[in-house]
Amino acid sequence: MNFISLHMSTWNHLQSQRSRLPHALLIIGQRGLGKFALAQAFAKSLLCEEPLEGSLSCGKCLACNWFEQGNHPDYRLLQPQALVEDPEAEEGKKKASQQITIDQIRGLDDFFNVGTHRAGLRIIVVNPAEAMNRNTANALLKTLEEPNPDTLFLLVSNEPLRLLPTIRSRCQTVPMGVPPAAVCEAALAADGLADAGRWLALAGGSPGVAIELAASGAGGWLELLVRRLTATGDLEPLGLAAELDKVVRDSKGRLALKSVVEAMQKWLVDLTLAANGLPARYFLPQQATISGLADMIPPDRLVRAYRLLVTRRREAEQPLNSRLFLEGLFMDYRSLLRIERK
Ligand SMILES: [Zn+2]
Repeated sequence: MNFISLHMSTWNHLQSQRSRLPHALLIIGQRGLGKFALAQAFAKSLLCEEPLEGSLSCGKCLACNWFEQGNHPDYRLLQPQALVEDPEAEEGKKKASQQITIDQIRGLDDFFNVGTHRAGLRIIVVNPAEAMNRNTANALLKTLEEPNPDTLFLLVSNEPLRLLPTIRSRCQTVPMGVPPAAVCEAALAADGLADAGRWLALAGGSPGVAIELAASGAGGWLELLVRRLTATGDLEPLGLAAELDKVVRDSKGRLALKSVVEAMQKWLVDLTLAANGLPARYFLPQQATISGLADMIPPDRLVRAYRLLVTRRREAEQPLNSRLFLEGLFMDYRSLLRIERK
């Protein structure tokens, strides 16, 4: 997928920094937008020795070749080992780290101590920046506070509020928004994703999440949930909890409880939008039903229900009895509707 064409305004903003590069840029935005891909494309375009019009990398020069093979001497990528895909990993091997380690930051010293090899610019991409614990972040901070000349840090983050404030303040922030839905849907469809518009809406506009949802078998359980939520007549919370609990257990970890809570959160967002006369954001095909349901619920009750879901979302991170958890979740939801039904 061509992430540059999905994020033209962010790309142009990045390119406008070219002539006076800061020491560190922090690209932020919701998960699955393509921030990392854009950071890499930007790094490649800066290192390219014969950039094309619009400062795009040429893909042909020696620097581009090195970059594509992952061995450009003036480029470093810091990311958790768990993100480095290793299909050959042996069974029972130590689990790969979810964190960027302090040794990875220390390893940069050698990188800084030798002169740059080519264009006189060094680039380090940190993805995602929130994968640094406090010690690691402090080690990076030292480097950011005493910047090496001709060095650019590109930090990528889904959750910038989890970063040390001192790290954030050392970086120039580049917000990345949701790409235009029509362009993104066309790009996903061109990549062979069936039903792209529906997945994209459910993903809140993030192409990466849309692909994930489609690939993770979300179709089945989500279909079931939506069918029950839109069915006329009373919602039967215990029955629905039992059905979904079975799906969760059968999925052997592929379907997490938090995904179910997130779906309910999106459902409530759409109900809230409908209550305010606005079009649905996530569940597009169910627009009419959602509007009808919204008419039966006082708006302040929706706000309270949403707050409750935020708590449930946190609880869902803990190991718990999934059946009981789901029963609570759907009983809350039904009470939301029911109180209004005289
Ligand atoms: Zn090139």
